[in-house]
Amino acid sequence: MAGDCRLVVRIDSEKCQGHARCHALAPELFELDQLGNARIRGSGLVPLEHQDKVWVAHANCPEQAIVIDVGAQRAGRISPA
Ligand code: SF4
Repeated sequence: MAGDCRLVVRIDSEKCQGHARCHALAPELFELDQLGNARIRGSGLVPLEHQDKVWVAHANCPEQAIVIDVGAQRAGRISPA
């Protein structure tokens, strides 16, 4: 059932090249370190109201460095929000 699905996002730091597109598109989810590389704000659990933004950021990352775990809650990798 889609209603119990929560997204978890992380950055693959080996791929991130600091374009900052993610931060520009979804500042609620991504911040930048001193070198301009992306970091996740908070735990990585994407609030429901920002789920569209995380997919937009994912689609616009030229390095494919944004990794979204779609089934984290159902698979027991995170606790229910
Ligand atoms: S857009 Fe992609 S490569 Fe650029 S800072 Fe964000 S995660 Fe890193």
